[in-house]
Amino acid sequence: MKNVIFLAPPAAGKGTFSELLIQKYGYQHISSGELLRDEALKNKELAKELENGQLISDEVVMKLVVDKLHSSFSNSNFILDGIPRTFNQVHLLEQYIQLDQFVVIYIHVDKSVLLKRVLGRRVCPNCEKNYNVSFEKFRPEVENVCDVCSSSLIKRTDDTEEAFLKRYQTYIERIKPILEYYQNKGILYTISNNSEDQTEALRKLVDVIHDN
Ligand SMILES: [Zn+2]
Repeated sequence: MKNVIFLAPPAAGKGTFSELLIQKYGYQHISSGELLRDEALKNKELAKELENGQLISDEVVMKLVVDKLHSSFSNSNFILDGIPRTFNQVHLLEQYIQLDQFVVIYIHVDKSVLLKRVLGRRVCPNCEKNYNVSFEKFRPEVENVCDVCSSSLIKRTDDTEEAFLKRYQTYIERIKPILEYYQNKGILYTISNNSEDQTEALRKLVDVIHDN
């Protein structure tokens, strides 16, 4: 088994994919978002930058990632979630890792499906349970009420069509050269995750892990 780099547009279902590798194969999960949030607890300046929605420099992100890789005592495989985000990070990362110990998995979902997911997202502001009103399976029992704590559900302010399309476009433009790069290295696998039932996509993920 190799280490995994997960690349996917927003709302593609990366969380479920990661969860499977963690539960079934004991992968360790490293996400730039989590690392930044943890670091922000100790670093006021970074906390402020995150709060203002500023883009954090590649060097800062990669330093956190590399520190994490080095501080990891166990020999288990790991998942890089949302890393590398930029082409610059691709090169920075290669100073610390050996690419032949990795597979890159790109989760492909059609834009229209992603939009439907994003527009249906609701969250409980009290217990943070997530729902999705676009899909029967993920709706609350009572409309707009949390199953767990009965609070009224809310929609995140950036879960609008306009904000999503902007995020999506930015993501696709940024990820394209990265995917081409890994394709040329022969380590890119694309898994389609358009269906609401993710069984088939997860089976493909397991195949990729076993084949490598
Ligand atoms: Zn709740």
